[in-house]
Amino acid sequence: HSADSPRPLPAPSPELPQAKEIEDAEKYSFMATVTKAPKKQIQFADDMQEFTKFPTKTGRRSLSRSISQSSTDSYSSAASYTDSSDDEVSPREKQQTNSKGSSNFCVKNIKQAEFGRREIEIAEQDMSALISLRKRAQGEKPLAGAKIVGCTHITAQTAVLIETLCALGAQCRWSACNIYSTQNEVAAALAEAGVAVFAWKGESEDDFWWCIDRCVNMDGWQANMILDDGGDLTHWVYKKYPNVFKKIRGIVEESVTGVHRLYQLSKAGKLCVPAMNVNDSVTKQKFDNLYCCRESILDGLKRTTDVMFGGKQVVVCGYGEVGKGCCAALKALGAIVYITEIDPICALQACMDGFRVVKLNEVIRQVDVVITCTGNKNVVTREHLDRMKNSCIVCNMGHSNTEIDVTSLRTPELTWERVRSQVDHVIWPDGKRVVLLAEGRLLNLSCSTVPTFVLSITATTQALALIELYNAPEGRYKQDVYLLPKKMDEYVASLHLPSFDAHLTELTDDQAKYLGLNKNGPFKPNYYR
Ligand code: NAD
Repeated sequence: HSADSPRPLPAPSPELPQAKEIEDAEKYSFMATVTKAPKKQIQFADDMQEFTKFPTKTGRRSLSRSISQSSTDSYSSAASYTDSSDDEVSPREKQQTNSKGSSNFCVKNIKQAEFGRREIEIAEQDMSALISLRKRAQGEKPLAGAKIVGCTHITAQTAVLIETLCALGAQCRWSACNIYSTQNEVAAALAEAGVAVFAWKGESEDDFWWCIDRCVNMDGWQANMILDDGGDLTHWVYKKYPNVFKKIRGIVEESVTGVHRLYQLSKAGKLCVPAMNVNDSVTKQKFDNLYCCRESILDGLKRTTDVMFGGKQVVVCGYGEVGKGCCAALKALGAIVYITEIDPICALQACMDGFRVVKLNEVIRQVDVVITCTGNKNVVTREHLDRMKNSCIVCNMGHSNTEIDVTSLRTPELTWERVRSQVDHVIWPDGKRVVLLAEGRLLNLSCSTVPTFVLSITATTQALALIELYNAPEGRYKQDVYLLPKKMDEYVASLHLPSFDAHLTELTDDQAKYLGLNKNGPFKPNYYR
């Protein structure tokens, strides 16, 4: 090829699931605005400014968290700003009704609703893309008739998503995908607003499945869409209510773990509805996994242990998106970071980024902190835990609690001491202590807050995936796992640009022809990461 002819793009790998392009994206007015008139996206900056100026009921000042509020909570998980330890009665035992007389929910304490509402309003300030979706939908309800059963972390940010879905016409029933990450006050605010939410912080395993069941199994209401994070809800429906799938138009799955389960189902020929793999959307993976973890790993560790990072030896297992985010933050604070990897490409990236790639066994005796981010299981085994030095901190940033073999620590010779909320000292007979955080569950969601803006990107992607699957004409999506069309990924990004007052360059006709692109996108092939 001569220097001035465009390079042919490599053929996509046949293994990569390819999303179908939206042939008739113009049918959806949200998309039409973007695909036909990119300038309108930029004009939207004005809407945004208008929104940020929008007065809240309590005024902006009172929306910021007071220092005393968070400091009183500093020894407990920051995931919830209210202290629930004074109330040991299980929410399942309580009779609660919201101000409209509905008891179609189960939360820790409905009286926290007003506080939760303020938390949601704070989150809305940084989730302008979702608010803009609501505004754009005025008069049009792309989710009218949608009955969405959801299982995600229940935080102020997800509440903004849930309320956006409701504003777009959907009915929602919601449970938590993690037993520790629910913000009780937010769950209360959702319940007060009429969302059927079944979740509280500190659920038992039994509560966890009970909550999911209450969302799915409801007389006179049957879900037709699933929004899942981790695959537990999908798994429950498959196991207990396979008939529900007759009505389901699609599953939107957010996590690596859940997506992995969906591909397994698909491979086994058992996936009976279309599924959207949101995790592998660029706007999810390259933002949520990377930036969210980069901004929250230190927060989670500091709030629980007050550890200083400068000069500390840390091993991070897995150098994927989450691992890369964690390592960047740790390195910036002067920690000495080691990486373990199974994939030579990620290992090479770690080397090029200046990290030592080692086997866990080689460093386990000397490190001060062990962080898992692989999405795998038994990455840290009892043997590793036995060899750790005194006071070594062990935690997990992956989705499920499978990465550290916590079960192997529940043996008679080891003593467990709960020293703070989410912090256990596991003590060996010789007095050695290992500091285990959040019992091996994902650290940042359990022990810190996560940046709202990044979550806004993921939440917008989820909302668009639901709209796309719900409105897709028959035949566009088969019983398979799809990626969100690139154009929608680009749309999600464009909705967030006004927050930075970013000004996109437009292709000239000549340039578009030269690159073989449509002036309005997509600007990259589907497989571009
Ligand atoms: P990824 O696939 O990009 O990275 C995982 C990496 O771990 C891969 O490079 C893989 O090769 C490596 N790996 C697998 N098994 C390993 C082993 N035994 N030892 C060492 N390395 C191993 O995935 P990701 O996007 O980085 O996500 C990782 C996990 O974090 C998932 O469970 C995901 O759901 C979760 N996640 C957490 C957050 C959070 O806020 N904490 C955000 C997004 C995703």
